[in-house]
Amino acid sequence: MALKIYNTLTRTKELFVPIEEGKVKMYVCGPTVYNFFHIGNARPFIVFDAFRHFLQYIGYQVIYVQNITDIEDKIIKSANEENVSTAEIASKYTKAFFKDIEKLGIKKADYYPKASAFVKEMIELIKVLIEKDYAYESDGDVFMSVEKVANYGKLSGKLIDKLQVGARVEENQAKRNPLDFVLWKKAKPNEPFWESPWSKGRPGWHTECVVMSQHYLGTPFDIHCGGIDLIFPHHENEIAQAESASGKKFVNYWMHNEYLNIKGEKMSKSLGNFFTTREILKKYDGEVIRMFFLSKHYRSPIDFSEQLMIEAQKGLENLYNSLRLADFSPKSEFNETEQFKEAFSKYEQKFISALEDDFNTASGIAVLFEISREIKKRLSKNKKITKQEKQDVYLLAVILYRLGKIIGLFNKEEKFQKNIDRNFEDILGLLIKIREELRQRQDWELADKIRIGLKKLGIILIDKKDGTEWEVVL
Ligand SMILES: [Zn+2]
Repeated sequence: MALKIYNTLTRTKELFVPIEEGKVKMYVCGPTVYNFFHIGNARPFIVFDAFRHFLQYIGYQVIYVQNITDIEDKIIKSANEENVSTAEIASKYTKAFFKDIEKLGIKKADYYPKASAFVKEMIELIKVLIEKDYAYESDGDVFMSVEKVANYGKLSGKLIDKLQVGARVEENQAKRNPLDFVLWKKAKPNEPFWESPWSKGRPGWHTECVVMSQHYLGTPFDIHCGGIDLIFPHHENEIAQAESASGKKFVNYWMHNEYLNIKGEKMSKSLGNFFTTREILKKYDGEVIRMFFLSKHYRSPIDFSEQLMIEAQKGLENLYNSLRLADFSPKSEFNETEQFKEAFSKYEQKFISALEDDFNTASGIAVLFEISREIKKRLSKNKKITKQEKQDVYLLAVILYRLGKIIGLFNKEEKFQKNIDRNFEDILGLLIKIREELRQRQDWELADKIRIGLKKLGIILIDKKDGTEWEVVL
């Protein structure tokens, strides 16, 4: 078994080789704290959190850094709109971010650097870039001169010439080339600022991530992650600065998740076709949202729809249901017999090889459903099962639970409570009884209503000579 990941830089699936044996240093671009983050932004947070869980499971020690962008033009805009200071806006939405990711079941990063705490280091980086003649000052602003950067465009595959044709000529006459990007921005009246050799101002967003990632992870580091929309200009411009300043490679592997679309269009704040994660969390549990994203490969676009959310909810409920039917409890002691180890390794291998193939969680989840179906198949008839059969089913449930945990599922302890299981069977028994009575009274319509209603919930009734049996289906 060997982990392969698709590297945006080389546009190929590559064998993953860490810089330091047994260790993975990864950086995921974090939120700009000017508002509640939308559900499209939740995708990289969830996917790369699950990826981290997985790396740890296969034996890596992971250092996981996610920044908080608390200096950015959008924050200034939000502060003006809400008529409060930028610090208040940043603090309010940073708190909201942590609250929301907790509900999504995301484990905390090892470090959450805030841009505002690294301005001094950012100024140092910009000084180096000016000294090396990669950057220039113009009336208090500092720009990176992209023409001087060797291989500019290597990540996004954009050639400078092509970009120049398409680039809008901005009003900013201070730039030598319209593609040059800002490293330091002079503050306008009433904008927050930091002292610098060039002006009272603030660093540019691309500079922030370069400094914070290298501070914690060194140069180069293993994996830099983010949404596909960050490839250009954000990540391209990170590479340009980092490699020009250090003369070394910045990052070995770049991983980017695809868009979350809504009716075929990218969901984004600027297009106005978005839902905040907070809104969605009011309707669906965080684990359902996790299931929704992980059910697809991270490099495939997903269309956000109520129907797909309901499907994710049903799918997850189905898995929990199998665990409950098997009487599984995460707290109970489990004796790992040879038989268990053998069965576990068979499914584990299948599951892990799916995830090792560029973190294909969709195929991984298919393995979970395979186990779930096996459990239900064995318990499908409401006949008495032997003690041995019960033990075998329990063993499958342990496998299902342990594999699901690898990608951060099955965190709802309360869902394993026995009384839910008992209630479920009792209520089902009661419905079957009522249906029998209705049939005796020849009230076919109402009797059918029960049968159809249960079918919609994934429970099929089978009428036999000596009574009605039920089966849970996927
Ligand atoms: Zn970033």
